[in-house]
Order: sequence, then C-alpha cells, then structure tokens
Amino acid sequence: MIAVLRRRRIVSRVPDWLIPLADVRFSDAEVAAVADVYRSGWLSQGPNVAAFEAAFAARCGSAFAVAVSSGTAALHLICAALPLEPGDDVVLPSLTFAATAAAVIQAGGRPVFADICPSSRPWLSAEAAQAAIGRRTRAIVNVAYAGHPGEVASLRALTDARGLVLIEDAAHAVGATAGERSVGTIGDAGAFSFFANKNLPLGEGGMLVTDDASLARRARLLRSHGISADTWARHRGEEVDYAVLEPGFNYRLDEPRAALGTMLLGRLADDNAKRERLAREYAAALEPIDGVSPAVAAEPGVHSAWHIFPVLLDPAIDRAAFRAHLRSEGVQTSVHYPPLHLSPAFAAFAAGRLPVTEDYARRTVTLPLFPHMTGSQHAHVLQAVAAAR
Ligand SMILES: *Cc1c(COP(=O)(O)O)cnc(C)c1O
Repeated sequence: MIAVLRRRRIVSRVPDWLIPLADVRFSDAEVAAVADVYRSGWLSQGPNVAAFEAAFAARCGSAFAVAVSSGTAALHLICAALPLEPGDDVVLPSLTFAATAAAVIQAGGRPVFADICPSSRPWLSAEAAQAAIGRRTRAIVNVAYAGHPGEVASLRALTDARGLVLIEDAAHAVGATAGERSVGTIGDAGAFSFFANKNLPLGEGGMLVTDDASLARRARLLRSHGISADTWARHRGEEVDYAVLEPGFNYRLDEPRAALGTMLLGRLADDNAKRERLAREYAAALEPIDGVSPAVAAEPGVHSAWHIFPVLLDPAIDRAAFRAHLRSEGVQTSVHYPPLHLSPAFAAFAAGRLPVTEDYARRTVTLPLFPHMTGSQHAHVLQAVAAAR
C-alpha cells in the first residue's frame, strides 16, 4: 500500500466529481524524489532523463528510448525524423485523439483515415488499412485504443510486405503486451504519452521508442534544437562548443518529471493489474444490464493496459440523456473519440464515410477507471449506469 497524500486546497478546486473519469495519486516517496531533483539544482536533460530512458527501454525491450515533452512531441518527432516528404500519405484510424493526425500534418504528411474493425474491436482494421494504401502511402499508424494492441501483428505483416513504415501510437498502452512483445516496439517506432490522465502520469511528457539507431539519433538531435552537444555534456566538460546541425524543436523532458517517471515505472505493472481487475469486474457486472456492453473484450494472449473503459450503448438509448443521468449522480464520462474525419480540423482530408467508426462513435461512452478506484465507487458507477438507460 502506498501512503496517499491528502489533497491540498489548490487541488480540490478541480471540479468536484464524486467519481472522476481518471484520478492520480502520488506517494510521499514519489513526491520526495521530485523534491530531491529541485534540491540538486540541475533541472533539465541530465542524469534523471538518462536513467528514465534506460529504465523505459529495458522495460519494453526496445534498443532506444528518447524522452520528450509529450506524446504529441514523440509522434511529431517520429514523423519528422523519418522524414515524411510533403505529400506522403499516412494511413491511420479516425477513431483517435487529434494529435495522431496533427503530428502527420505538422511533419508535412497527409492523413488518410481508415475504418475500425466491427464488433467489440474498435481499432484500425488491417483490411481497411490495406484498402486505403495508395501510390503515395509511406506509413501506417496503429493506435492502441484503450490500451489494446489491436491488429498490430497483421499491420506489421502488411507494412513489411508493402515496404511501408509502421508507427505505433501507444499513448494508451504503456505496459501493454501482445504475445511476447511490448506494445510500442512492434512497429518501426512507438510513441507513449505521460499526460496527466494516462497510465503513467507525469502531467506532461512522452517517450519515443525504436530499434532503429539512425531514427533515434535524429530524434535526439531534433528534440533539442538540432544542436550537437547538450547542456549536460557541456556542464560535465565533455564538450566545449556546439554546432546547430539542422532546425529542430524544443521537445525536452525536464529532470523532476523524469525522476517521477522512473518511480512510476516501478508500480506500473501493479497499477495496470488493478485497472484490468476493475475492467473485468465492470464487464461481469454489465452482463445482466441490457443495452450497455463493454466496448472492448478481454482476449487471451493480450495484456491490455486498460487505459480507459468504454462501453457501447444500444442504438435505442439516448446517449446525451444517459450521460446527463451519470453526471447528475456525480459520475464523469467521456467519449473516445469524436471521429477525426468529421471534425473541422481534418475534414479536408476525409475521403468518404467510415460507417463502422461513425456508428461506434455515436454509441460509445467511457466510464471512470483508475487504479485506486474503490469497490463502493465502482458499485456507484454501475448503479448509475443501470438507472440511466
Ligand atoms: C494522449 C494521446 C496523445 C497525445 O499525448 P500528449 O502527451 O497529450 O501529447 C496521442 N494519441 C493518443 C491516442 C492519446 O490518447
């Protein structure tokens, strides 16, 4: 059991849901590790970042891990380091967060939206992705929806056969595995997010993983202004001067968050196991509740990170009224996701209807899920769900 800090006033000004969608808790030891970094006087890109990268790479079995300022930065760096040429097409699901498509566009590529699989498999369909491949296609992005690897194995076979790059948006999937492999390491490069509500929450932060030495080298260069020697190397006297080799970004992670990241890696397996147990209990309890079913089924051989717990409503249920009832019971919900091909930012890239995505997105609702959710919180959500139909 970790010691749970009392919330201070400033934190309790966050809207007071009885049961929020996601929640984070830090132990005294975790907070102390961060405080130690502030006392050290070295705040960015130093030994804590290096240690976090090494621990993360070891944990997921990738040759390289590059810590960055967000999951979006990791996705953008992958696309920029490939690099995508203007007009290169990248096939990706529409049922994802805006950043997946925005990263492609910001790197000069064009998103091509493909449909998800039917029946409790709400992730990019390898068959739909194959059908979306055209003359200009350079890469496919698999998004590990809810923490599930989806059809990543089929997509790997497809990209290998067609000479394409496979990118994994593993923002939901830190700690997830498919067979023997960690999600995020099956593609040519993977991007993780450590945003405040993700499974390894740092507030902001991300990690790029790859086995490709030249991609990792370029990502490291672009992460810090395209500069040849970082301030830590100069501080230690290893380098005196630097050269700016190409125009880059500032996508660095700072030392305090890297220290917290290393601490949180230590309890990730336990946190994810708690998520899985709660998700299985949700699924069992929903069985007798008509009209509401788990959107993602548990599967043998797959260890999902259970980042979120989306459900699917019968078409006869009014989703807005369902969510309003849950809100009145103090239960926060969300929708993962409004489809990107229908949103103003990306509509220009839409090539037509995506019927499975559109049907799913109309009927899905995400219920609260976090590792320290109590039995009575869980029961309250289920009661509210049963009464909301
Ligand atoms: C959170 C998320 C991202 C972006 O991560 P940030 O760290 O918030 O930049 C990208 N893709 C998906 C699917 C996400 O859920």
